[in-house]
Amino acid sequence: MHEFKYRDQRLVCESVDLDEIAERYGTPVYVYSAATLRNNYRRLEKSLEGLNTRICYALKANSNLAVLRVMANLGASFDLVSGGEIRRVLEAGGRVDRSVFAGVGKTSEEIERALRNGIFSFHVESEPELERIDRIASGIGVKAPVAVRVNPDVDAGTHAKITTGRSENKFGVPFDRAPDVYALAAKLRNIEIRGVQIHIGSQITKTEPFVAAIEKMRPLVTELKQRYGIGYFSIGGGLGIAYESALASGEAAWWEREDGGKHLLTPERYGRAVAPLLRDLDLEILLEPGRFLAGNAGVLLTRVEYVKHSGDRNFVIVDAAMNDLLRPAMYEAYHEIVPVAEGELAFTADIVGPVCESGDCFAKGRRLAATREGDVMAVLSAGAYGYVMAGRYNTRPMPAEVLVDGDRAAEVTARETFEQLIAHERIPEFL
Ligand SMILES: *Cc1c(COP(=O)(O)O)cnc(C)c1O
Repeated sequence: MHEFKYRDQRLVCESVDLDEIAERYGTPVYVYSAATLRNNYRRLEKSLEGLNTRICYALKANSNLAVLRVMANLGASFDLVSGGEIRRVLEAGGRVDRSVFAGVGKTSEEIERALRNGIFSFHVESEPELERIDRIASGIGVKAPVAVRVNPDVDAGTHAKITTGRSENKFGVPFDRAPDVYALAAKLRNIEIRGVQIHIGSQITKTEPFVAAIEKMRPLVTELKQRYGIGYFSIGGGLGIAYESALASGEAAWWEREDGGKHLLTPERYGRAVAPLLRDLDLEILLEPGRFLAGNAGVLLTRVEYVKHSGDRNFVIVDAAMNDLLRPAMYEAYHEIVPVAEGELAFTADIVGPVCESGDCFAKGRRLAATREGDVMAVLSAGAYGYVMAGRYNTRPMPAEVLVDGDRAAEVTARETFEQLIAHERIPEFL
């Protein structure tokens, strides 16, 4: 369950009124619920009870230091994709020595940083990477623990820009080549084979792709265990969330279509589908959820600047834009958008930002309550791949972030100032 709901017709996050947050910290502002982050983590953990699991939060979804601290306090491990993320986890007090390092393009510097901080395992995506890790480990006199990311070539049925488990993607090594890559790893003196990994895509809303991928992997996993004594199988992340009806359902979970209908696919269903395929492997099971943990734990608050009538269309122009939340422009993503003051649905409008791009549109033809200049709206399900993908297009400063915990709220990222925005720019003397 997520902690955003109407109370006395005002939208609250836990016990805090969201219009007060907008007033105090300005807009656009991201607001996160610590209780929702904790609920999601514990619920996923519980759904796989009986298995030896390790949840590695994929912090690329939301890497705010306060969010990382919430995760670290829960005992979470982390799925890291850059040297910067290693440093973030350390800053937040998280355990790099229990975390994994993923990504197709790890630089030498990043590999060395991970090794010096005692990384639990590298998730290796190619043979040249394996050789580079071996060389660097040899240089500093350690053994590098690795798992190979295997591409099981299953269709996750998700958006083309976020599917990763097909053979035409850049991710992982092809399923048929995996034995050769492990044979190479076994020959390298400074490599220690520790596990095997898959990750088939993001925002997956059905159990079938997960089940298909794990079923395909089972014989290989068993063989790797016998041959190399691997200790873990990482089944990746990718669990989808409810973007539609996120508020009404109260769920920080995801939807599944069956017989044309829709219903919630909860972590419990996910657990029931995958656990039977994992139990007899007798390995530690790593999970790498990002969106599932953070997505419905955050909203983006934005204020209405203008309500414009143009021909037969209505436009609600808000002060957030595609630079603040890129998902609608980049993935044609749907986000539920609701007023912080509850009202009867009264008209239909497009909700757009001020940026000079037609793609700067959060929603088309949406039914809305009566909307006036100055009203505050909440773009829901914005806790993952929101702030982290924000930019400064149109010289718009990075937005603020606020974390709510019970009846407390704190600004966890200050809004960027114009001076900060241009601080790294220089006009050369020869001009
Ligand atoms: C992005 C990514 C994740 C997290 O994906 P979500 O869809 O946010 O759960 C996990 N593992 C790897 C390797 C990734 O690249």
